[in-house]
Amino acid sequence: MALKYSCASAGADSCGFSTTATDKADLARQLADHLSRVHAVTTPTQTILRYLVKCAEDRGSLANA
Ligand SMILES: [Zn+2]
Repeated sequence: MALKYSCASAGADSCGFSTTATDKADLARQLADHLSRVHAVTTPTQTILRYLVKCAEDRGSLANA
């Protein structure tokens, strides 16, 4: 199942970043890169990554409902 993520839907309204990923690990990797480059989070914790992946999962399940 593809995961769709956007910063706006995760609460960062001013960031226009969005992406899709093939699985959670792929998304977490993309987010770690994006957070370090755009949000000045140089070492995103597992807690943050897990939370953001969860946001994407929740949206995915809503989209399929
Ligand atoms: Zn962002």
